[in-house]
Formats: sequence, structure tokens, C-alpha cells
Amino acid sequence: MTTWQGRNITVAGLGVSGISAARALAGLGASVTVVDGGSSPALRERADSLEGEGISVRLADAETLPEGTDLVVTSPGWKPTSPLFAAAAKAGVDVVGDVEIAWLLRGPDAAPWLAVTGTNGKTTTTQMLASILSAAGLRTAAVGNIGTPIIDVVLGEEPYSALDVLAVELSSYQLHWAPSLRAHSAAVLNLAPDHLDWHGSMEAYAADKGLIYEGNRVACVYNVADKATEDLVRAADVEEGCRAVGFTLGTPGPSQLGVVEGLLVDRAFVEDRHKQAQELAEVGDVQPPAPHNIANALAAAALARAYGVPAAAVRDGLRAFRPDAHRIQHIADVGDVAYIDDSKATNTHAAEASLAAYESIVWIAGGLAKGATFDELVAKSAKRLRGVVLFGADRDLIRQALARHAPEVPVVDLDRTDTGAMLEAVQEATRLARAGDTVLMAPACASMDMFTNYNQRGDMFAEAVRELGAASA
Ligand code: ADP
Repeated sequence: MTTWQGRNITVAGLGVSGISAARALAGLGASVTVVDGGSSPALRERADSLEGEGISVRLADAETLPEGTDLVVTSPGWKPTSPLFAAAAKAGVDVVGDVEIAWLLRGPDAAPWLAVTGTNGKTTTTQMLASILSAAGLRTAAVGNIGTPIIDVVLGEEPYSALDVLAVELSSYQLHWAPSLRAHSAAVLNLAPDHLDWHGSMEAYAADKGLIYEGNRVACVYNVADKATEDLVRAADVEEGCRAVGFTLGTPGPSQLGVVEGLLVDRAFVEDRHKQAQELAEVGDVQPPAPHNIANALAAAALARAYGVPAAAVRDGLRAFRPDAHRIQHIADVGDVAYIDDSKATNTHAAEASLAAYESIVWIAGGLAKGATFDELVAKSAKRLRGVVLFGADRDLIRQALARHAPEVPVVDLDRTDTGAMLEAVQEATRLARAGDTVLMAPACASMDMFTNYNQRGDMFAEAVRELGAASA
């Protein structure tokens, strides 16, 4: 058991997870100082309320390590190169994240963790997993990189008391700072370049993702189509008897889950010893039934099956699952054209998955590229494109890739980076669309050049589609 009484802990970042960590550790008797580089009125207000509870707060200085610190607890967004961590390293002080603290705070009979990471599909898969576990009658919650800070969940704050098992979404940042984590079973869904500015290199990013497999007890779930995920399993140090379990959109081999004639099939955890495979569900039970989402469902099923969930609960849980907003969300049909909001496609890997799910597409794209290149995405999707409407700061990069790989596809460059561009984008897309087409807003870019976040970008798309529908009614 870790002792917190009397320790001098510095919490980096006065955000939701930082506040949760500060309160939890102070409650256990640690002497806590929260530091943050900002000094806005909103931060001052938060600082006042924490100071009222006996927690020290230092604003407008994110760099110097408070005197006497013996542990730093960081918020996920802080880069490993932050000067505060250099100061900690110099002083021989460990840096960990909120997931590490949550892991250390678990009681002896705590709920085991079924953990999910990957470049894309984390939230969807974690929620599918929670839905399957619930359908099996287990008390569970989807937590981690979603909603409630994980420390609050582990401490059993309402409504999180007495859970049987947790479905935990973990980002690469969280894994980087959680060296003690030992999941029951874990999945890496896929690996594609993202957040490289934070991790420094693709190798470092992959290595951080791979930490999710360390010490797994029952199953390491990997993507057969993405060899890098299997390589991470091979490199991990796991408990004796822990198995590598693959998922594939093709016919599954032994120890894999896959798809056979429209059925999701399990060949890793077969209930009847005389059978080679266990039928789990129909492809049509998965919403939306796009290929990447079937893969998510198989990964969720693999983790649930590793926990001992029966096949019928996988089917019931998948049927009950509804994806969150802005993830390939069908907004409306106007005339014979479908309008789909995939605002959460904030990188090229995600956009590629949704572009692969439709046949004839008018694609709305652009925003902040975060250092990405678009050649591969455009080359793979070119034959499905009826037309493209571009907005946002880095739209030129997409336009150039289109000129190289899809010169015949009509492109409307709005040359705008203001929020109002969404309405014009939807109007232009409608002009390009023919009966039976799909207008797909899957920008392949982050949203912050034009919108507050991807939620606002998606909401504005839906609003523009509704306006269009009202006008055409
Ligand atoms: P994350 O939590 O990893 O960001 P989400 O489940 O929120 O993932 O999905 C984000 C976006 O990624 C979706 O809108 C969809 O476009 C895409 N996506 C979802 N699952 C996958 C997958 N398995 N492979 C590729 N792209 C995916």
C-alpha cells in the first residue's frame, strides 16, 4: 500500500483531472500544491475554492518545482518536455499521471480493468464494451479518458460505488504516465501517426500505447490487420497464461475473433469444447455497421469474452449500444442525399475509415492538419469522391493532395476560416451532390482554427443541414 500521509505532492495543471487528483490526495493526508501557468479569472476562482479546502495553488508559473516536492502528478496534456518535469528529474522526483494515482488508490477487492487504447475508436469501443458487460448483468462503467475523472471512480464516489469491472479508455498520454498499471486484459485497436508533437516520434508513441499490455493477466487483444499492434503484444511482459487474441474482419484463425458470412464469430473463447467457433452476433447488430466499427465491436467482444461474458450478452450489448454524437452520425436525408456528421474524424486515419464506409461521397474537409499529410488518404478514397468542399487553415494541403491523386474530382475551396463557413460548406456540398450520394463531414483535421472543438463543429453542421431541410421542405 502506498502511504500518502505527509507527502509533498505537486499537481501539474488546474483542470478537471488535476483538481480531482489534488482533492483525493489531500483527503488522504498529503500536502498538495497545484501549479498552473495560467492566471485567468476562471483559474483564480478554482484556485480560491481549492485553497478554501487547504490545498495550495500557484498560478502563472508552470516551470519551477515547489520546494520539498517528492512526487509530481501531471495532467495528461502536459508535454514530457515541460520544464517542470526537467526540474523534477534533476531533483530525482518521479512524475506520474492521474491514471497511475487511480491505480495505486484501488482497494484490495477493487474492480479489475478491461483497458482500451488505439489511435481511433477508443471511446466507441469502450462504450460498446460497457454495454456488453451491462448486458451480462455486471455492474460496470465506461471511464478513463471519458467523462468522470478516474480517481473519483476508483474512490467509489456516487454513482461509482460497488462496481464489478471497469471498461477503461486510456490515451497514449495517460499510459505514458502510468507505469504500475496492470489490466486484467487490454486492447490496442490500431496505430497510426497522431500526437507526434507530444511523443516526439512514432516509436515513442507506439511504445506508450504498448504499456497497456504490461502485466495483463488474461488476454492481450490486437488487430490482425495492423501488425504494429501485434508487435506490441509480443514485446510486452505479461502474466503467465495470458493469451494473445487477434480480431479480424476476415475469417478468424485459432485464438481470433472475426467475421464469417455476416456473423461475428469467436474462435478464442469457445464455450462448448466440441465446437471450433462460437457465434456472437450478426454484423447488422453493430451500429453503424461500417467496417471500422465492426472491428471496434470485435475488440470489445474479445475483452468481454476474456472476462467470461457469454455469447448472448455480446449480442444483446451490441444491439443496445448507440454511438456518441459526431461519430458517423446520420443527421438527416434531404431529398435523396444523406448527411453524415463525423466531426470526431480529427485525423486522416479516422477520416479514411468513414470515407471507406460510403460509395459516392461529397466530402467536407479541412481544419488544422497537426503535421499530417493527405496523399495516402486522398489516393485511397479518390474513386468514392463525387466532390469536395474545403475550409480551414490547412485546406491547401488537402487541395494539393487532391490535385495529385484525384484531379478529376471537383473541388470547392471556400477560402474561409470563420465559423459561418459551415453553412456555406453544406450549401456547396448539396450543389455537388446527386441522388443517392452522401454528404460526409469528416474533416481529417482538428477543429480549433474555426470552432471551439469538434462538438461545436458537428453541431454547426447539423444546424446547417436542418436549415437546408427547412428551406427545401
Ligand atoms: P477515439 O476515442 O479514439 O478518438 P472514437 O470512438 O471517438 O475514437 O472515434 C473517433 C473517430 O474515429 C470516429 O468518428 C471515426 O471516424 C473514427 N474511427 C472509429 N473507430 C475507428 C477504427 N477502428 N479505425 C479507424 N477509425 C475509426
